Amino acid sequence: MCSDSNSTKGPFEDPFANCGPATRAIHSGQEPDPATGAIMTPVYLTSTYVQEGPDDHKGFDYARTIHPTRLALERNLAGMENGKYGLCFASGSAASSAVIQTLSQGDHVVSCNDLYGGTYRMFTKVYTRFGISFSFVNATDIGEVDKAITDKTKLLWIETPSNPMLQIIDIRALAKLAQERGIKLCVDNTFATPFLQQPLEMGADIVVHSTTKYLGGHSDVVGGAVVTNDAETYEQVKFLQNGVGAVPGPLDCFLVLRGTKTLPIRMERHCSNALQIARKLLEHPEIERVHYPGLPTHPQYDLAKAQMRLAGGMISFELKGDLDRAIRFMKSMKIFSLAESLGGVESLVGHPATMTHASIPREERIKAGLADGLIRLSVGIEDEKDLMADIEQAIAKSLDPKAGVAA
Ligand SMILES: *Cc1c(COP(=O)(O)O)cnc(C)c1O
Repeated sequence: MCSDSNSTKGPFEDPFANCGPATRAIHSGQEPDPATGAIMTPVYLTSTYVQEGPDDHKGFDYARTIHPTRLALERNLAGMENGKYGLCFASGSAASSAVIQTLSQGDHVVSCNDLYGGTYRMFTKVYTRFGISFSFVNATDIGEVDKAITDKTKLLWIETPSNPMLQIIDIRALAKLAQERGIKLCVDNTFATPFLQQPLEMGADIVVHSTTKYLGGHSDVVGGAVVTNDAETYEQVKFLQNGVGAVPGPLDCFLVLRGTKTLPIRMERHCSNALQIARKLLEHPEIERVHYPGLPTHPQYDLAKAQMRLAGGMISFELKGDLDRAIRFMKSMKIFSLAESLGGVESLVGHPATMTHASIPREERIKAGLADGLIRLSVGIEDEKDLMADIEQAIAKSLDPKAGVAA
């Protein structure tokens, strides 16, 4: 049915390519274990594999290079993104890092100015030391991206929806621009997931993921991935994956695979909960501003509709009043937990200015529209009415400056 299971290299021809996203999430890259028939991909806790003769083996020689659980996950993610090649990493940061490591000293990258704080930190604090330069622009304006491209530029890097402002960037338009200028487009698809949008289908060259978030979906594993249709990029990133070695172990891959099987059904619930909550926040007299791409008031609402299946599970907003009130609100929540990260089944609340985006200088943050009092919600898959009741009681508590921490 599938490609020869002894072949652990080369493009993945998914026998489920014509199936829908829920079928692909469950079946792409998944075959019964050839040794035992186990329906779930086993976790082989072994670092090395015995060979019949020198370089004569079953496709697996050393577990940094490849192991069966990682291979199954790489094919599963490739299938979901409708890509030919998937490569897994120990974290989303390691996946992003491997893409940047395909560049050389003197190369230039144009990136959106509203991106994951850790990616910004890696670009500016690590890779600038190796002679790679970065420009951060408002990528919702294609003209600004175009202006920032120089003859040194090799890569465009975007996140859409962006983090935490949930701006929507036009993937098709940027893919066209990248192609015209002879450079590559990389999309961090962590917030949308392949269920909501498939950047490769829209012309992007590379997709990166933090599988820690929605793909894993249960806040119990850290991981990352790169997916591409471009054979040259695949060869480069695969070389780096093995040569630099930021690879995930079998159990981590198993946990992500367990998560991806329910991705479509979880995303539907994340999105419907988030849409209902965003609508109520928009009407709420104590809320100053709401950022959610599924609201008609969102500046790129039509674009979101055109490139995303649903508008996602992330909302950011500002309460009326000062920063202290925002902090009282977050501390008063009972179902939403105050924590970094996103994309798990449980709802989380975060404060980007002091948490996920603290590594971005305040001046840069404000320029990107990220106010000190901005609150970010990762809406989970609990009952919407309970989540909304939690928000209501925390808003009420935040009105009282003497109200303490939640019990
Ligand atoms: C979390 C995240 C990353 C980094 O992934 P890790 O798995 O934490 O290393 C990159 N991009 C986005 C959009 C993220 O949310």
